[in-house]
Amino acid sequence: MRLGRHRRAMSPLLALIGMIATPPGQAAATHVDPHPAAARAFERVSRRARGEMEPRAGFRARRPEKRYSVTVPIGKPRPAVALPRVEGPANEKLPLVVIDAGHGGHDPGAISPHSGAREKDITLALARAIRDDLVASGRVRVALTRADDRFLVLEERYGIARRLRADLFISVHADAAENQEANGASIYTLSEVASDREAARLAARENKANIINGVDLGAHSGDVSSILLDLTQRETMNVSSDFARLLQREASDEVAFRTTAHRFASLIVLKAPDVPSVLFETGFISNKDDAEFLASAAGRKKIARGVREAVQVHFARRIADR
Ligand code: ZN
Repeated sequence: MRLGRHRRAMSPLLALIGMIATPPGQAAATHVDPHPAAARAFERVSRRARGEMEPRAGFRARRPEKRYSVTVPIGKPRPAVALPRVEGPANEKLPLVVIDAGHGGHDPGAISPHSGAREKDITLALARAIRDDLVASGRVRVALTRADDRFLVLEERYGIARRLRADLFISVHADAAENQEANGASIYTLSEVASDREAARLAARENKANIINGVDLGAHSGDVSSILLDLTQRETMNVSSDFARLLQREASDEVAFRTTAHRFASLIVLKAPDVPSVLFETGFISNKDDAEFLASAAGRKKIARGVREAVQVHFARRIADR
């Protein structure tokens, strides 16, 4: 009776004991920034487990088969990020394009084995160049998810596009491969199933941006399949695919694309159900020529021009279709 009451009152403690009771040799659950009370409880059971304190009499012996589990609080949820400035003509009727510079802050992305250039710097410079070109066109409004070296989880990136009611979202990245011969740009759109093994590997790598010290900071990273059932999402995916093909067509004069340039993968950053989205892998940072192209002002200009032309044709078509 007494134990029963105790158990209800102290269930997080019991759960922590469950974690500590992991057999020797197996990894126990990681203890991540819990509430102070849970931290103290964790310390107590840790000391008991190490034999520094007397075990609680009969506690584990009575119910050795019982397994406990609990979600340990990992600190405060991240507050909503501030919305970025919308640049370009002050005309709300003009379409809004959100450009997302991949990675940032503690997440450098891929690193060039040739120059040591970091993907997060390459993508930021590219995003700015694309913004400048789009703003100069006067046909669209533009916002950057980040205009400096900061970290955003993937949900925050497309969340910004949704909160701004963007008409198009372009996440800018640079690819990397062990084979340094691999080169060329590609464009990814969302799919539950990856188009090939390489696309699946790329999605795993890019989705990893949300994981810090083993903790997934993303709110809903596991629900791609349920969202895909939504009809809005299907329409969005069709428009995304149309734009991906257009981007390849319009940019291929300036940018070298891979043979299979349009690929599909379950990329978290493309999951806005109502904003057409593509992830533009602008080239391989692991390839010497591509890395030089991506880091050069001339390369940035070419990529920006390709994006601008695709964006213009895209919205001209959308308006004509209405
Ligand atoms: Zn990336």
